[in-house]
Amino acid sequence: MPLIRFEHVFKRYPERGEALGNVNFEIQAGEMVFLTGHSGAGKSTMLRLIGLIERPTRGQILVNGRNLATLPRRQIPYYRREVGMIFQDHRLLPDRSVFDNVALPLVVAGVGQKEIGRRVRAALDQVGLLSRERATPVALSGGEQQRVGIARAVVGRPPVLVADEPTGNLDPDLSREIFELFERFHYVGVTLLIATHDLNLVQSMRHRTITLDAGRLVNDTGDW
Ligand code: ADP
Ligand code: ADP
Repeated sequence: MPLIRFEHVFKRYPERGEALGNVNFEIQAGEMVFLTGHSGAGKSTMLRLIGLIERPTRGQILVNGRNLATLPRRQIPYYRREVGMIFQDHRLLPDRSVFDNVALPLVVAGVGQKEIGRRVRAALDQVGLLSRERATPVALSGGEQQRVGIARAVVGRPPVLVADEPTGNLDPDLSREIFELFERFHYVGVTLLIATHDLNLVQSMRHRTITLDAGRLVNDTGDW
């Protein structure tokens, strides 16, 4: 079953021209896929469309059985819980604890206190940060901050994870650790789409890789 499907997707920004032009692809449930391409190629735009942060100018996007073009407005918050998003700058709240940052999506979703405690600790355990739940993000290293961002994205157990340059601020060793963490989610069935510039890492990891160039999908290695 395709978990993500783009059909003739175009995205045009007023005055900036076409960010995506006629993009077509499918990602099957459980795949781990890298998204590469030069700066400005359209990678972030593609991820924002999947996260329903923006809408396409034309074309259809289907994610986890939902047609994003026809999704009623009141369903958007529920849809967003099905897509965990990870950003280069991780977007943590600097004045809240690690625990509170990771708990945030569950608090918004109205999950009960006891269940929040259980799930946040499970997510922190998955990223190896259980001992840091009381720390604030400023006390953490860059790699640890990104792992908190990943814990926040997975705490609601979304079937899809999308990451936008998640290792853009990290050195090669920490970048590899983050990618290996993504592989662990891949092994338990999560579908991942990871935008990255890190071609060395991409080539060493042997997952399907989609390449954008000036808004066009120019290469797709298919599954390895
Ligand atoms: P990438 O993530 O591959 O660097 P982006 O998706 O950020 O590429 O950008 C693709 C193109 O769309 C670029 O030309 C960029 O300037 C333009 N663009 C992206 N976001 C916006 C926006 N919010 N408003 C106007 N133009 C944008
Ligand atoms: P902005 O569009 O103002 O930059 P954010 O960057 O905070 O807003 O987030 C954009 C959207 O992505 C928000 O609507 C939010 O619901 C969603 N989002 C942010 N972080 C996560 C996450 N970890 N998991 C799932 N969705 C998220």
